[in-house]
Amino acid sequence: MSLEPKALRAAAALLRRARAAWALTGAGVSTPSGIPDFRGRDGLWRSYDPDRVSSIQGFLNHPEEFYAFWLGRFEKMRQARPNPVHELLSWLESRGFIRGVITQNIDGLHQAAGSRRVLEVHGSARSGTCLGCGRRYPLEWIARRVRLQGVARCDCGALVKPDVVLFGEELSPDFEVAQREVEGADLLLVMGTSLTVWPVAGLVPLAAKQGAHVIIANATPTPYDGLADVLLPGELVEIARLLRQALEVEDARA
Ligand code: NAD
Repeated sequence: MSLEPKALRAAAALLRRARAAWALTGAGVSTPSGIPDFRGRDGLWRSYDPDRVSSIQGFLNHPEEFYAFWLGRFEKMRQARPNPVHELLSWLESRGFIRGVITQNIDGLHQAAGSRRVLEVHGSARSGTCLGCGRRYPLEWIARRVRLQGVARCDCGALVKPDVVLFGEELSPDFEVAQREVEGADLLLVMGTSLTVWPVAGLVPLAAKQGAHVIIANATPTPYDGLADVLLPGELVEIARLLRQALEVEDARA
């Protein structure tokens, strides 16, 4: 399936008409910034077992293995810079095309690109919390401890867990806000997610059920492509460039 100019024009028209649009993003918007996704072509779950390195049980049972995996990822996130996809979403918000971004990402790149309303439904890698006394620590402190000791332990002796939602944990409070916003939305622009992680993937059928339009932009098919009014298959950086161009052309004509 290839990206058709007609589909791009249809997506631009939906964005232009929408009054309460939200974007929903996943790991695919950050792969152009050098952060690997999980289930894409070179996704991490091809070489790692998510139960061991990305679940709360894995964290509690083998913290060294968990931290060895995450240290490299956090380092990449610390060095990563926003790419044109993050920039498009920030621009869409600043121009009033979307109200904000609901993201599954934990890398903070939407905020770094200037997006103001960002709902981080899987938490954030910027900090961690002691599971014993609740003290908060910045990512840099956690990374330093892990490099020195293999795990991050608080002064009270308990483990410090990054503030990201692991498999087996409840979602962040932002998820409830996201659900409410999607219930009142008239358009959901989905970018760079395999839509396989629940309950976030459920936001797409929820939007469709409320009568909202759905645009899905992704390199590979998702289980909800059948609900989409417009599909934009392909590379997101290219899609972002063309979508912005289409909206700017219409702007110039208006
Ligand atoms: P996923 O890996 O399951 O899916 C990513 C999707 O993006 C894939 O379908 C892939 O084909 C597509 N994709 C990747 N790069 C693309 C590109 N350049 N252009 C177009 N499409 C592209 O990720 P997910 O759906 O977000 O779910 C995984 C979970 O992992 C999320 O809950 C998230 O919390 C977490 N995660 C976060 C980050 C991050 O913060 N950057 C990175 C990886 C995973």
